[in-house]
Amino acid sequence: MFDLEKIVRKHIANVEPYSSARDEFNGEAKIFLDANENSIGSVVSSGKFNRYPDPHQDALKEKITELKKISKKKIFLGNGSDEIIDLIIRAFVEPGEDEILIMPPTYGMYEVTAAVNNVSVNKIPLTEHFEIDIEAVQDAISEKTKLLFICSPNNPSGNIADEQKIKELIKNFNGIVVLDEAYIDFAKTQSWTNKISKIPNLIVLQTFSKAWGLPSLRLGIAYADKNIISILNKIKPPYNVSGYTQKIAIEALENIEVKNKLVRQIVFRRKMLSAELSRLDAVVEIHPTQANFILVKTTDADDIYKYLIKNEIVVRNRTNLTNCENCLRITVGTELENKKLIEVLKKY
Ligand SMILES: *Cc1c(COP(=O)(O)O)cnc(C)c1O
Repeated sequence: MFDLEKIVRKHIANVEPYSSARDEFNGEAKIFLDANENSIGSVVSSGKFNRYPDPHQDALKEKITELKKISKKKIFLGNGSDEIIDLIIRAFVEPGEDEILIMPPTYGMYEVTAAVNNVSVNKIPLTEHFEIDIEAVQDAISEKTKLLFICSPNNPSGNIADEQKIKELIKNFNGIVVLDEAYIDFAKTQSWTNKISKIPNLIVLQTFSKAWGLPSLRLGIAYADKNIISILNKIKPPYNVSGYTQKIAIEALENIEVKNKLVRQIVFRRKMLSAELSRLDAVVEIHPTQANFILVKTTDADDIYKYLIKNEIVVRNRTNLTNCENCLRITVGTELENKKLIEVLKKY
């Protein structure tokens, strides 16, 4: 049975969160002399930045609630998903004792963040076609396994993890499943966010960095049971999401049809690019993708990578990752960029 109190690190339960000036007073007032801000203004003229941002990001969360029909108590915002991944590991995994489980090839930050926190990583590779090896994962889970990371669509393979397998893993697991949906907007399948109310040990991660086209803002979202969210709120740096980020993200959410249009364009370009790539001699296999990138098995990834660099095109060489021999990960570009890429590859 999943029991959050058993999963959270003992000392975290006793941490008193930082109480900001705006935590102690957030009513109406005319004069704010409580936060040691520069009362006169800021150096730049491009905006008003001289006040600390809302540490709870209430206005932004309200927008998300409106859109997703998920209560504010089940939403956590971080300085990119990367900050959230770090906070989750720090909240639930005891360094030098417990471990996380990941399924390579997958997003590199799970392992790096675990390493930074002196947390061991149990790696159970995806199968040759990048599916979850459910028996191997279940065999590998022990009482030390606190977090299980699933990336869907997976980076770098681009495929969606099988829904039944995810359900099975969640059901039989006493730890927390972290489902990273950074690329979900580009996929045909539904997000798992509407399932968090029924699953107390699921955290769904999303981000403004991909479909929304806002990686420079650094804004990630975690959706989970309110008890998990309140632990993350307790340990986060108080002003982890900048005021500028909150403001622009609200504007973005008011323009969701623009995001949907961009996604449709990228999905269309992805289809075109896959077709063009599949006709090339240098291409051995196109892995089916539901993200904004394509994992392409080539005749010689190292050589083609260098050849592309010489032609001023940078792709991601993934040949050294598990089951990715001779694979390049190519982000879907603009019409012109894709055309140029194909032209150059034709001459290889
Ligand atoms: C790009 C990406 C992210 C985004 O991280 P941010 O810190 O929100 O920019 C998260 N997870 C995966 C798998 C990614 O590929």
